[in-house]
Amino acid sequence: MATLLIATSVGLMQAQSLYMPRNIKQAYQKGTRSMDGKPGKNYWQNSARYAITVTATPPNRTIRGTEDITYTNNSPDTLTILVFKLFLNSHQPGAIRQAPASPDYLTSGIHIDRYAENGATKNWRDAGTATWRQVVLTKPLMPHDSVKLSFDWHFDISLESNREGMLDSTTFFLAYFYPRIAVMDDYYGWDRTTFTEAQEFYNDFNDYTLTVNVPKDYVVWATGDLQNAAEVLQPAFAKRLNESMTTDSVMHIATLADMTGGKVTAQQAVNSWKWKASNVPDMALCISNHYVWDASSVVVDKKTNRRASVQAAFLDNAADFHQMVRFGRHALDWFSNNLPGVPYPYPKTTIVQGFADMEYPMLVNDSSTPDLNFSRFVAEHELAHTWFPFYMGVNETRYGFMDEGWTTAFEYLISQADLGYEQATKNFLNFRVNSWIKDPSAEQDLPIITPANILSGAALGNNEYGKAALGYLALKDLLGDVEFKKSLHTFIDRWHGKHPTPWDMFFSFNSSSGKDLNWFWNNWFFSHNYIDLAIQKVESSASQVTITLQNIGGFAVPVDIVVTFADGTKETFHQTPAIWQANQKQAMVKLPIKKKLQSVNLTGGVFMDADAKNNSWPAH
Ligand SMILES: [Zn+2]
Repeated sequence: MATLLIATSVGLMQAQSLYMPRNIKQAYQKGTRSMDGKPGKNYWQNSARYAITVTATPPNRTIRGTEDITYTNNSPDTLTILVFKLFLNSHQPGAIRQAPASPDYLTSGIHIDRYAENGATKNWRDAGTATWRQVVLTKPLMPHDSVKLSFDWHFDISLESNREGMLDSTTFFLAYFYPRIAVMDDYYGWDRTTFTEAQEFYNDFNDYTLTVNVPKDYVVWATGDLQNAAEVLQPAFAKRLNESMTTDSVMHIATLADMTGGKVTAQQAVNSWKWKASNVPDMALCISNHYVWDASSVVVDKKTNRRASVQAAFLDNAADFHQMVRFGRHALDWFSNNLPGVPYPYPKTTIVQGFADMEYPMLVNDSSTPDLNFSRFVAEHELAHTWFPFYMGVNETRYGFMDEGWTTAFEYLISQADLGYEQATKNFLNFRVNSWIKDPSAEQDLPIITPANILSGAALGNNEYGKAALGYLALKDLLGDVEFKKSLHTFIDRWHGKHPTPWDMFFSFNSSSGKDLNWFWNNWFFSHNYIDLAIQKVESSASQVTITLQNIGGFAVPVDIVVTFADGTKETFHQTPAIWQANQKQAMVKLPIKKKLQSVNLTGGVFMDADAKNNSWPAH
């Protein structure tokens, strides 16, 4: 035991070289997390079983729901309260939102009509405009015990759609649509963050059954597996859907003529579409009586030949969406076999035409665009979210850079496969880097580790997307592709289905690579750095040139040094971020040369330099 204690305290001392908030430190001291980057021996997380029924009768905008939740307390603490998330209250006039809302976006929020604990109905105090509500349990919930909760509720779907809402008068997209128990974790306790429509997910892994009651002629697309296709679809359509599960071809499950001709669904007043999903962080769904429906499938695990279904639901006049199943198949194939290189972990996905450009587990809500390349790009980004945050359970509310950052890095890598290096790099610079690196404002330089729930605007967006993606791409360059992928897989293997913090990720990469990368994590994730390199000095002899680089912005970026010789020929020498390990302000690079030197230039690819004027020698 003494040896173990010493080892633990040494580990903690080493970790001091990364800033660690006090609540994270306590988690390591309690052994819920481990300094080697694994879940600790005392790791726990809570989970629930949700049985939800919702009823929609478009064009009536009122949605009614009932649910039974069985919530299990796996923590070592007795729970005296529960916290419920009521995200739809962000539609209320006066709710706290990061962006202004138009009148058509506003509703009266979510109304709880009945709440019960273990079968006993209790008074529910209205949450007002709050997006969460704390409830004192009648009977405290002991460790390893569970409580049964029931809700009846209703809400009006908003006329204007954002992440959810009405897509048209008879097409509804429902997300955040049910009362959900907040995450209680080992480092924050209950998640009491307000949903301001900026942060998206921090959810437990739950098992769901979902019944969606809709009038005949409405099709439902939802997270999970459809349990009763033979009951809700007419035989020919159930057969087609079934056939799509084993073919690489894109099948038209239902055309516009099929949909409007009343041919697709069972002809009874109400159809109850039953869905099931296990170990997922959330459910979402779309209903329509005129969206057309394509489907195919793709092998996502070549070892077992496991296929995933790829479906799309859209307006017949959306030209890009007629390609969407093809795009989806390509994305699942590429992400499963390249990076992250982990087989798509779900049985299916559906890409729905909406307005959000937003991911849900097994469901994507994307706008239609006239540019096929851009439509594919957005679909790829949202599908990449399957791994981060959904499979990996990261706390996107506070550490969105573990969600959007990884997704944006994968987005750039698949774009290279789609469009080639030059075009993908140009797009990434325009879309993800330029607005940040060209803006000298203080909020652009806040450390990426800053909790995202207190950020807004440019600081939030760039910390989560562009800067974080560049950090991961710099890490890939530093470790090399093989070591990077191995370490990423180790992190994914250790933490999928759990709730890793940034420190778990940093420590996991340290231990799996066998390298102390804390200098790199500090440089990219805990600093006010940006990207600006300069050539300070160039000295050459007949056989060697020594280039002194100054790191003005501070980020440990890779760089290409392009040497031009007197005869007009050029040679490019790639430098990984390792050149900044010893001294993050200055690096001396010695390169072998055989010809007379004429000039030296720095190019960074996606690592765009804030000031390119000092990147050349001789200066001009
Ligand atoms: Zn995203």
